[in-house]
Amino acid sequence: MRLCRFGDSRLGVVQDDRVVDVTAVIDRLPIFRYPLPKFDPLIAELGSLRHHIERLADGERGIPITEVKLACPVANPGKIVAAPVNYSQHLKEAREDPEIHHSNQIAEIERVGLFLKATSSVIGSSEPIIIRHEDRRTDHEIELAVVIGKKADRVSPHRALECVAGYCIGLDITVRGPEERSLRKSVDTYTVLGPWLVTADELADPSQLSLKLSVNGELRQNANTRDLTIDVPGLIAFATRFYSLMPGDVLLTGTPEGVGRIKPGDVIQSEISGIGKMTNLVQAQA
Ligand code: MN
Repeated sequence: MRLCRFGDSRLGVVQDDRVVDVTAVIDRLPIFRYPLPKFDPLIAELGSLRHHIERLADGERGIPITEVKLACPVANPGKIVAAPVNYSQHLKEAREDPEIHHSNQIAEIERVGLFLKATSSVIGSSEPIIIRHEDRRTDHEIELAVVIGKKADRVSPHRALECVAGYCIGLDITVRGPEERSLRKSVDTYTVLGPWLVTADELADPSQLSLKLSVNGELRQNANTRDLTIDVPGLIAFATRFYSLMPGDVLLTGTPEGVGRIKPGDVIQSEISGIGKMTNLVQAQA
């Protein structure tokens, strides 16, 4: 199943190039009062709501997907966990290019571990990326994004995929410079998740997915998740040695080689096999 959020907080099922509105299923979610939970209530209930969603979508024609504005498929991610330098060719380019490493030591992921991005940086595929520091190099990074479906704590790699709700395309937009990654990558609009969530039953094996990103029609990144240094189950196991992952938490699995600068006016097209394609506009700060 392909689940999207669109328009004014509508929930949709994507069927071919159309969206069927299944927002009515949200009435089945538990109602929370302050203090609100630290997970995404819809993602947490996705397993139990699935047949209701399918019933709502059954036989409906929907509307063309080109007519809707797509929001981030996860409304309330509790945290965005991200993997640095998780492809060896990207490690090599980062170490060789002073404009990428800025005299920071670029260590292997096994040494440096994972980092967190602010959830306030998250947008969906129909929202523009707004360049905040035009005087500084700001790069695109395409990454497979994993959405966690149930609480996971100290899971082993061979059980890790049981915790996954689904996948989407992630863009980890990055200001290059000497500061901590979490600062440079947490600018508003610098985490794009989209275009929709493909549930894990439809995408059972995340280890053989091709990733492609082009800017203004020029192919910049072209890789495959088979070349991840630490694969998806390994990343989940690694993260949960330190903290629990909750429903709706997002894991960005790291970018392959080919990162490069983006500027206002650019059009980014990204694609991951088994998920889909999305287009993002880059704009200047108003
Ligand atoms: Mn990244």
